[in-house]
Amino acid sequence: MERKKTKTVMVGNVPIGSGHPIAVQTMWDKPIQAYSIALLDEIGALHRLGCNIIRFSAQSDADIDILKKLVPDSPVPVVADIHFDFKLALKSIAAGVQKIRINPGNIGADWKVREIIHAASDQNCAIRIGLNGGSLPVQVRNNKNRSETMINLVEDYINLFLSESFENIIISLKDSDHEITYQVNKLFSERFTYPLHLGVTEAGPVIPSIIRSAYTLGRLLQEGIGDTIRVSITGPLKDEIYAGKEILKMMNLYESGVKLVSCPKCGRSGFDTHWFVSEMQDYFQTITNNISIAVMGCAVNGPGEASHADIGITGIGKEVFIFRKGEIVKKTTKQKCKIEFIEELQKVIDEKTNN
Ligand code: SF4
Repeated sequence: MERKKTKTVMVGNVPIGSGHPIAVQTMWDKPIQAYSIALLDEIGALHRLGCNIIRFSAQSDADIDILKKLVPDSPVPVVADIHFDFKLALKSIAAGVQKIRINPGNIGADWKVREIIHAASDQNCAIRIGLNGGSLPVQVRNNKNRSETMINLVEDYINLFLSESFENIIISLKDSDHEITYQVNKLFSERFTYPLHLGVTEAGPVIPSIIRSAYTLGRLLQEGIGDTIRVSITGPLKDEIYAGKEILKMMNLYESGVKLVSCPKCGRSGFDTHWFVSEMQDYFQTITNNISIAVMGCAVNGPGEASHADIGITGIGKEVFIFRKGEIVKKTTKQKCKIEFIEELQKVIDEKTNN
């Protein structure tokens, strides 16, 4: 599919826009209590899983002090999420965050937004103008056509930014109603060329969220709309990254990484695919080469059904088989199979890297 042409906006070293890969984002799901090695480790783990940008709520001077320390060490650009208090936005920008996310409607008077724009302009900080259908200004909250209302509002905000000659902006238009999210983003992309951050807000726990997000974001992405995404999940952050990557992979918009094929098991199974996938999934997500992996429950159907896979695993009784392109290359045991699989997978990675 052809992506809609949008301007490029740099968020730190990550370019956002139609000429660039679609970035996967998440948002830290707790107060940032302290700058610590543990915090950096967690961000590092998310980065290895495929997170391109991370956002934090900045609610106090203490939060901003932590962000200031975090920015130089973070492996991914850091975004400060600001509500109501324009001074916190100014302080976050001064702290060096690569992007702030604001809803100009709750910042207050135009002059406050202009001050934020001037500071962002001086520091080369990007700004996401983020509108959520559930938090529209009181005077328009009950308007019948929410999509049109959101478009009109965001147009007013964009005009304010343009009056300051500031175009370092990314737009998000989210709603907990997935159909409104679809319509409003489609309308926006017909009228503007600023990059869009896509997401269905308050999308629920893992399964409902992934279904709603895949359906809504999938349709927008298929129409070439969207430059960065977040799958909002009431659940672990790493699931947001997995889900975002899988949606992009499904749409052929993710250039590398593992394509995992695994069977659900049935009465015929001799190998516990549930156990193996849950043990290995995080590791698979860190692989950046284009590799297909099959985890199959039975040696009768497994290798044959997964003969296209670069590497696979199955078993019967006490024996576990590792296969490549349908041919068994190693016999092992359940106790040793994880390590032996990783060794064989490393060979596949090396071959792909050297080719
Ligand atoms: S691969 Fe084997 S174990 Fe898995 S679902 Fe198919 S028949 Fe059942």
